[in-house]
Amino acid sequence: MKQRGVLIIAVESGSLAEEAGLQPGDRILEINGEPVLDQLNYQFLVSQKDTTRLVAQKPDGSLDPLEVENGGDGLGLDLAEDEVKVCKQNCVFCFVHQMPKGFRKSLYLKDEDVRLSFLYGHFTTLSSSDEAELDRIVRERMSPIHVSVHATDPEVRVKVVGNPREGNILAKVDRLLAGGIDVHTQVVMAPGLNDGAAWERTLADLSARRKDHDQPRKGGVLSLSCVPVGLTGHREHLPAVADVDAAYARAFLARWKAEVPRYADPLDGEPWLLLADEWFTRAGLSVPGRTFYSRTWAQLENGVGLIRRYLEHTRGFLKRPKAQGFKGRNVLLLTGSSFAPTLNESLARLNRAAGSRLRALAVRNNAFGESVTVAGLLCGRDLAYAAHADREAHGGRPDWVQAVVIPSATLRTHTGPTDQYTLAGGEARPETMFLDDLTLAELERDLGVPVVPSGENLSQLLDHLRAAEARRTDWHTSLMTQPQGAYLP
Ligand code: SF4
Repeated sequence: MKQRGVLIIAVESGSLAEEAGLQPGDRILEINGEPVLDQLNYQFLVSQKDTTRLVAQKPDGSLDPLEVENGGDGLGLDLAEDEVKVCKQNCVFCFVHQMPKGFRKSLYLKDEDVRLSFLYGHFTTLSSSDEAELDRIVRERMSPIHVSVHATDPEVRVKVVGNPREGNILAKVDRLLAGGIDVHTQVVMAPGLNDGAAWERTLADLSARRKDHDQPRKGGVLSLSCVPVGLTGHREHLPAVADVDAAYARAFLARWKAEVPRYADPLDGEPWLLLADEWFTRAGLSVPGRTFYSRTWAQLENGVGLIRRYLEHTRGFLKRPKAQGFKGRNVLLLTGSSFAPTLNESLARLNRAAGSRLRALAVRNNAFGESVTVAGLLCGRDLAYAAHADREAHGGRPDWVQAVVIPSATLRTHTGPTDQYTLAGGEARPETMFLDDLTLAELERDLGVPVVPSGENLSQLLDHLRAAEARRTDWHTSLMTQPQGAYLP
């Protein structure tokens, strides 16, 4: 049975909580007369009043009513991670349903939690958000929320999410907007399912709900991204879904790329309709220039603008003296086949500028299937296989390269309450492990050369190579701490 309240796991020394006598192992059941639901709710409740009245439960079950003069500040507590909520949908393209067998249990958890949407930018279909939860989002100002709309036509949406009760997504979105909550939205597009007229209706419905600068208290749809459906090679016993092939991607871009500026904000030109990088990589086309993407790189974590941002950074980096730090280096970078051509172009420029020998190798995803071309879903064994093959192709010498670089997005350092990281009650993922549980240290031993994460850009990569030479592992972790992105380069 789920226990009430939130569990304290640490109390900061000298904090208000310590002064009040709170200890690790205590549970906070109530604050100012309200039950405490979870960590976010705790933070909200303690911020509401200058004096916080709370009821703590000791490990022996006794109750301890306390009063703390905190002036709305935190009390200095570390709380146990919350149990994640499990989604009630059955989406035709759900990635969890398409996972190969044999991975650790937490990877098969279908999490869908508005708290993670607010904290980490995870998308939610709002399936587990009933009236009470929608009220809570508004009351606790969880804004913005990231919503997977997929289709606003109720019949189409039911087909996409596989849940007859979840057709009317606009009712939930409107409820949030009326409460002053902003939303970022996405459509995962599956040919013949939610494209064509259904997509045009979705676009029109969401566009009509954009943020109105004259009504700042009302929420608005801040952006709409469109991402091509991702199918793995493991779809036995699942509904037939057509893939987005090169011809489809090219036709889609021919129709919709030119529409992006039409939907830009009339006041500041900020793009609102966002097309994921994968449309371009699948079509075999270069990604557009900087102005195609939002100034703040909205929906970057959803694969919108990652390649352009990398290219922009590379351009600036090559002019910096730091770029000369690559001089003489002979390094192999492993990546997904969708990013390899772009990366190789960048590396060719770097090699010319710095006299280095860096090259990218597209790694085939054997675990998920060849159709999965993004770097973030490469497993340790596929990376190992590709590196061994490269060594053989280069004469088999053990020191054929000075270092091998793996995409940072294939590793995680985060241990928060999300599907890929931790299940309630355990299975925390060690810091440097791939999806298939191979560790970075094991891969390094297997290859016999230093193996380092890519970082977000060339500057971070150079930091990592230098750290490896000094036998340090102080990696930049920004990509590793993002949600499990299918689209990270
Ligand atoms: S909402 Fe997400 S986790 Fe749930 S079925 Fe759909 S794709 Fe899968």
